[in-house]
Amino acid sequence: MSILITGGAGYIGSHTCIELLEAGFNIVVADNLCNSSREALKRVEKLTNKTIPFYPVDVRNQKAMTDVFKAHTIEAVIHFAGLKSVGQSTQMPRTYYDNNVIGTLKLIEVMEQFDVRHLVFSSSATVYGDPSTVPITEDMPTGATTNPYGRSKYIVEEMLKDISIADDKWNFTILRYFNPVGAHKSGQIGEDPKGIPNNLVPFIAQVAVGKREQLSVFGDDYDTKDGTGVRDYIHIVDLAEGHVAALKTHRQDSGLHIYNLGSGTGSSVLEMLKAFEKSCGKTLPHAIQPRRPGDIAECYADPAFAQKALNWKATHTIEAMTDDTWRWQSGNPNGYES
Ligand code: NAD
Ligand code: UDP
Repeated sequence: MSILITGGAGYIGSHTCIELLEAGFNIVVADNLCNSSREALKRVEKLTNKTIPFYPVDVRNQKAMTDVFKAHTIEAVIHFAGLKSVGQSTQMPRTYYDNNVIGTLKLIEVMEQFDVRHLVFSSSATVYGDPSTVPITEDMPTGATTNPYGRSKYIVEEMLKDISIADDKWNFTILRYFNPVGAHKSGQIGEDPKGIPNNLVPFIAQVAVGKREQLSVFGDDYDTKDGTGVRDYIHIVDLAEGHVAALKTHRQDSGLHIYNLGSGTGSSVLEMLKAFEKSCGKTLPHAIQPRRPGDIAECYADPAFAQKALNWKATHTIEAMTDDTWRWQSGNPNGYES
């Protein structure tokens, strides 16, 4: 029996592959490599001393996906495959709905054909929109999303709810990630954004390695501890372990399960910058700029439900997140092309 990992060559997928292999699961990866590199999986194989069956296919290609299900006995699917850039989604909404929504629907159709009913879905804290209070619990309202990327995640969540109500054989786990950062402690795999990074920590890492001149801090007039935006940064290895815990907990279940995967701690932009400066041993140039449109002041999880139900907890500190990012970035200044 194997776990099929769609998008397994990507940032979260590759780290989750390591944790699954180390937990004794067999895995199969399907990824069209539109935002990742084959090299990531080769490094996972080296680190774990295991071979990963890999299919360079698009999840929307049902014929190719059928062949994957025919070739392996699949027990469950962790569905990472999707597009994730908020900015790009506003430019190319159709592409985002097609990849993220239609892609998931087509995957579920193939799963049903093979009577594989266990799916773990990558959702996002973005489904909460601008929360009325923090920390955010799973029962807080969702749907007030501000861009096509966020809406694609919200639509898939609603779709999974409807499907599980109509057919109680389905076993869906929705994981709402907060802000994944960091890298595997080996420094061999990490986040490798294409072009100019949108996210804070990859941007700071590129300033530290000399690829970008300075960090733009988007706003210092928010109602937060130091005026800059506050987010819940979670170490990628904690996040990956959350998937293993979710998979194990709900192996024999049915129905719909929803969890926040966050650390429960809010950190500001300036706190992250300071931590990174300590990790890399340099002062990093930065300038205060106007707020980024669509940004919210503060967002962090209440992870209590996941901690209790999954017997899982994020344990890595902010320092570990920036140390590990720096190890990866400085060792691989050009990502997997180094
Ligand atoms: P990523 O881009 O590194 O990984 C996604 C992977 O999916 C890539 O390897 C890409 O090549 C592949 N892919 C995309 N569309 C595909 C398709 N149609 N068929 C096959 N493969 C396809 O992104 P990530 O950060 O690892 O994110 C994984 C998932 O988690 C995504 O669904 C993303 O939306 C979600 N998520 C990410 C974050 C974050 O901050 N990184 C936060 C919340 C949710
Ligand atoms: N941010 C910033 N400069 C950047 C990128 C991000 O000041 O170059 C801020 C952003 O305004 C937010 C925080 O860093 O307050 C996290 O942003 P990111 O895009 O990483 O995550 P998200 O906003 O999607 O939670």
